[in-house]
Amino acid sequence: MRPEHYEDPTHPSMSAERPLAHRLVVATLVFCLAFTCATVSVRTWFAWGTEIQAMNGELALIDQVFQGSLSKAIWEMDRDSLEAQLDSVVHAAPVGRVTLRIPRPERAEEVLVRQRDGFLGTGPAPSLQRALVVVPYPGAVQAVGVLVIEGDPALLRQRLWKEIWTIMLTQIVQALALAGITMLMFNGLVTVHVRHIARHLERLTPETLGKRLRLDRLGSRNDELDLLTLRINALQDNMGQYLQRQREAEQALAASRDDLALEVAQRTAELVRANEQLQSLSRLDPLTGLANRRYFDELKDAEFNRALRSGRPLTVLMCDVDFFKRYNDTHGHGGGDACLKQVADTMKALFMRSGEVIARLGGEEFAVLLPGSDARQARQAGERLREALAGKRIPHGSSPISPYVTVSIGMAELDPVGMSVFDQLLHSADQALYRAKNGGRNRVCE
Ligand code: GH3
Ligand code: MG
Ligand code: MG
Repeated sequence: MRPEHYEDPTHPSMSAERPLAHRLVVATLVFCLAFTCATVSVRTWFAWGTEIQAMNGELALIDQVFQGSLSKAIWEMDRDSLEAQLDSVVHAAPVGRVTLRIPRPERAEEVLVRQRDGFLGTGPAPSLQRALVVVPYPGAVQAVGVLVIEGDPALLRQRLWKEIWTIMLTQIVQALALAGITMLMFNGLVTVHVRHIARHLERLTPETLGKRLRLDRLGSRNDELDLLTLRINALQDNMGQYLQRQREAEQALAASRDDLALEVAQRTAELVRANEQLQSLSRLDPLTGLANRRYFDELKDAEFNRALRSGRPLTVLMCDVDFFKRYNDTHGHGGGDACLKQVADTMKALFMRSGEVIARLGGEEFAVLLPGSDARQARQAGERLREALAGKRIPHGSSPISPYVTVSIGMAELDPVGMSVFDQLLHSADQALYRAKNGGRNRVCE
């Protein structure tokens, strides 16, 4: 019996070395990466503007907080307070450098500068310039200096980087989550079933065609997988029916082959029987059942040679029914046939020893081969035949010598010295028969 799973050497079993889900995940990740880059660029652009705006607001707030007290300190020439306030301003988070320019009458203006460590210039960071004034009495406004607050570009960059990192982290986590969910869903919804279908097809043999493909899914989805299952099952059904028809045709062919073989065997046997029958018929005289002339010719030489070899005697009797033409004329041809049969039966009853051959040579003429009998025994045998026939008392209505059918018999013995072929012996017997006829018939002559 064939195992359920067999491997076709022309189609070795394949396992999915590059699963579709992996390719889908890679595609998802590449897409998410590209999307992340684009998103980061756009969002960075907007974040840049927002940060600049935020820093502007912060600088304005610092200006609001300090402008009054700074103006007052300049007016009152409170040097300590001025220094302390400038230190406070430069320590405020967004400030990179603060510059206070105080005009002095008839002298160069005094410039006080405070800047953060590592400050190299405002660069893209915003800056704010404020004219400081005091109102010594109502209605009088006195300018006391100019305050310039410059934003710290390092802080700006630091904030921007933070923003970028947040965006990137969010996007990457989102991409990974998306790829993971895609893979899980694809695995659960497609890969598992496609592998199941591949396994099913791999194990399919002519014997398992009846085993239908079933996917382990909840209910019918009417999707591509259901359609594929439907088509595979239909294909199996068709193949099963085709194989069944082929099997039936092969069985019918085998059965008809057996019938044909049987028929041929029967016909052959009949033919063999018919041949045997034909052969025996061609050897026997149909009227008397004795050997015919042809068979006699086949046998005579063999007996002749055997006698010569063995040195045993061999004699021949030539028998001829007397006045048989007249018999026919008197009793009719049918009566003649019946008479010949009776003569033949008489001879059969007499010459039954093994090797003895009785043949009808033609018409009412018979020959008897007597191997092992010498002339004396043959003469006795001839006499016995004559007497036996006489004993049968077959009426002969027109024989001038007897009221019954009689035979004349010529007898000859093999002369191993003088004879070299059987026909010499037969001729000798024929001459003896001639003598018997001439001698008055119904007798045995030598
Ligand atoms: P003879 O005593 O000298 O032998 O005279 P015969 O009349 O017997 O010899 P002949 O040769 O003149 O006649 C033989 C006859 O045998 C002639 C033929 O009509 C008849 N005959 C030959 N074959 C058959 C046969 O098969 N059946 C019948 N009924 N007659 C046959
Ligand atoms: Mg004759
Ligand atoms: Mg005759």
